[in-house]
Amino acid sequence: MARARRPFFCGNWKLNGSIAESLALATEVRNGVASLRDVDVAVAPSFTALHAVAKRLEDGPVTVAAQDCFWEDKGAFTGEVSAPQLLDAGCKQVILGHSERRQLLGELDAAVNLKARAALRAGLAPIICVGETLAERDAGETLGRIQAQLDGALADMTDAELARIVIAYEPVWAIGTGRNATPAQAEEVHRFIRTRVAARSAAQAGQLRILYGGSVKPDNIRALMAEENVDGGLVGGASLSADSFVRLVKEGSSV
Ligand code: PEP
Repeated sequence: MARARRPFFCGNWKLNGSIAESLALATEVRNGVASLRDVDVAVAPSFTALHAVAKRLEDGPVTVAAQDCFWEDKGAFTGEVSAPQLLDAGCKQVILGHSERRQLLGELDAAVNLKARAALRAGLAPIICVGETLAERDAGETLGRIQAQLDGALADMTDAELARIVIAYEPVWAIGTGRNATPAQAEEVHRFIRTRVAARSAAQAGQLRILYGGSVKPDNIRALMAEENVDGGLVGGASLSADSFVRLVKEGSSV
């Protein structure tokens, strides 16, 4: 059965890697996926390595994502990095609203929305992360939480803008814990996300790529990708080794 959407895998390197280490990892990933045709692959190094990695990867096929951006384009905002600066550095995508930022840095849905709109303005594709905590899941609040995060992040977006975003469902309890959501748990939330977006635009919902993230590994990606609404993965730990990330991309894109 042909997939409804082209698979997309993004490696989130988080706060890891010198410039030299990032270049080495990026080069290995590029070489490892070079022969694959029916998949999009991105890596998200730290800010300091973005430009060097983007230069190294400029001939494709792997693109470069940032891990965050600010919502203003320029001005007196010490320490922030804007979406136009990321574009200038060679980025094509930016991860926004990652649960580590929400939990450790107090990032709110309204900020994720402002950042996503800034990214779109600049010509970057936002990869917007949503996901419930274990307490929310245990309390039966998963879908309500996802709905609130989604509605907050996508507020005031036009259909044309919706067409350029990617959503990543990342249950907080599965990130970096070795405990991934079951394919059925992931599919339930992915289907819910698509239905929610369909209420705004059926056309955009049909082509929206929804990635799963949370302890994705080469040996569990096939079962997740077999679900109708799982279109790829946002990968943390398993993306820090080129061998495991390339295997994961190959496994996931061949389902
Ligand atoms: C992530 O941080 O986006 C993530 C999914 O991490 P891990 O794969 O390590 O759980």
